[in-house]
This record gives sequence, C-alpha cells and structure tokens, in this order.
Amino acid sequence: SSNTIRIEDLDELSKKSYPPCMRRMHETLRAKHHLRHAARLQYTLFLKGAGLSLEDAMKFWRSEFVKVMAVEKFEKEHSYNIRYNYGKEGKRCNYAPYGCNKIMNSQPGPEDASGCPFKHSKPQELRKLILSYGIDSNQGLKDVMEYVNSQQPVLACQKLFVLSHPGKGVEFGLCHPNQYFTESRTIIT
Ligand code: SF4
Repeated sequence: SSNTIRIEDLDELSKKSYPPCMRRMHETLRAKHHLRHAARLQYTLFLKGAGLSLEDAMKFWRSEFVKVMAVEKFEKEHSYNIRYNYGKEGKRCNYAPYGCNKIMNSQPGPEDASGCPFKHSKPQELRKLILSYGIDSNQGLKDVMEYVNSQQPVLACQKLFVLSHPGKGVEFGLCHPNQYFTESRTIIT
C-alpha cells in the first residue's frame, strides 16, 4: 500500500520527513549500531506507525545490531521485543506509537537518544540538530529557539516543520511524531 515504507528509504526519509526526535534516534542508531531501551521502543513503534512491516523492522534492527553484537545475542535479547511491539508476542496488543506528550514526559538519561530534543537536549546539540534541517535563515533558528526557551517544545517543532518545508508547510496542531511524518510526506510527495 502507499502507507508502506522501505528500509532503503529510511536514511532519506529521516532527513526529509522525520521530526527531530526520530531523526536523532535514527542517526544515533546508524552511528553507534545500538540504541538503549527507551529509544528502541520509541523508534520501533514510530516505524511501525509509519508503515514499516514487521519483517523489514526485524531486518533493519538486525542489520545494525549485529555490527556490535553476535547474531545469537540479537535473536535472544531483541527480536522478541520487536515482535512484541508489533503485537506478535505476549499479550498480542497492538502497541500505539508514542505521542509528543508521552515522549516529552519521559525522562531520558544523559546517554539516551530518546525523548523530545526540544525539551531534553542540551542547547548546543539542539542547535546542531535544528540546523541539520537546512534552515536558511538565522531568524528561523532564532524563532525556533525562542519557543524552546519559553518552554513550548511542540510549537518549536511545529515552527521547524514550517521552516523546513519552505512555501508549503503550514501549522497543523502537532501532537504526534507520526503526524509530523505523515504531514511531511503529504507535502513532499
Ligand atoms: Fe518529536 Fe513531538 Fe518533540 Fe517534535 S515535539 S520532536 S514530534 S516529541
């Protein structure tokens, strides 16, 4: 279906259409071939919501994790959790991807790539992340940071969305990373 995304598109999608929370986790996974528990959970559920099949999710996580651990360890410790989050193990619930509130109310540790960057990242890292969206004016960065400094992370994210979809991005009442992604895909494709 048109709702499906493929592993080979994830790098490009992460640059064009992921909100900063998901982009940061994707880039951390690519760089370190690992994510800690909360980030694995948040990113797995986001990808499920974005239309990545269970089979591809398994392939994707395995391809990264086996760079830093034995395949047996991956199968033993991680494949169950991925299947679980797709509702294929345990209670067979279909777990919903986390919304902004839930992500913002989480308490990531200093080593965690999870959480909302507009709330949890250090200012220096946040600036870098914002600039990686190719915003072409200082004013844009300033506007986003003003929302951050007045503790309005969702408005900061919404502003970044508008700035990173020039001429097309409108505010849409952001409350969910998957909504950010879907809005972006609607505009870009
Ligand atoms: Fe992610 Fe929501 Fe934070 Fe944006 S406001 S980075 S979508 S948690």
